[in-house]
Amino acid sequence: MQQDTFRHQGMRNRLVELLREKEIKSEAVLNAIGKVPRHLFLDPAFESHAYQNKAFPIGAAQTISHPFTVAFQSEMLACGQGSKVLEIGTGCGYQTAVLCEMGIDVFSIERQHTLYKYAKKQLATLNYAPRQLFFGDGYKGLEEEAPFDGIIVTAGAPFVPKPLLSQLKVGGRLVIPVGDETQVMHVYLREDQKTFKKQTFGEFRFVPLLGDRN
Ligand code: SAH
Repeated sequence: MQQDTFRHQGMRNRLVELLREKEIKSEAVLNAIGKVPRHLFLDPAFESHAYQNKAFPIGAAQTISHPFTVAFQSEMLACGQGSKVLEIGTGCGYQTAVLCEMGIDVFSIERQHTLYKYAKKQLATLNYAPRQLFFGDGYKGLEEEAPFDGIIVTAGAPFVPKPLLSQLKVGGRLVIPVGDETQVMHVYLREDQKTFKKQTFGEFRFVPLLGDRN
């Protein structure tokens, strides 16, 4: 059984300082990153790198997102204690744990069964309790639990899936990297039933959001 020690806490504190230098401002996000034991979501072989700003393989040809990307997307959601958030792409569950640590009520969907099972086990072991984890296709969102205060997509989407926009509350935000090889982070704020305000932020590189046929 891997442990979380003072040494790991020290590495997390340094990571939080790095994220501050990179202009992450939300104390709620920084506090969560300072608490979630990222190394326990990775293969033990990567433990010494767990608190560097790097992406890593998590099996099934997928990667855990960079800590900066997790922090940036979490900040862009502008959600907090008690907000209802849908995550598309649970992966190993690290981003899910960060949102849980922020007091967010999290629903998350993962399309790869091995990762869905892994995240479920890992989150429970670490006492994180997202409201529900689903094995399924994130392009459709989660109609039965809509509307959401925020929706975060953690894979590169070739286009913005319509159901995700329609499942936002008025005042809610969709944070989604859009593009093929590289992606531009898009944030859609639902201003009223019919109007969405779009903002874009910098380039990122994610694994692709896969459809039914891939
Ligand atoms: N949130 C993760 C990032 C995982 S990488 C973290 O904390 O690091 C992106 C994840 O999206 C992968 O696990 C991949 O399997 C998943 N994914 C890809 N297409 C998907 C889809 N259509 N629906 C749900 N999950 C999808």
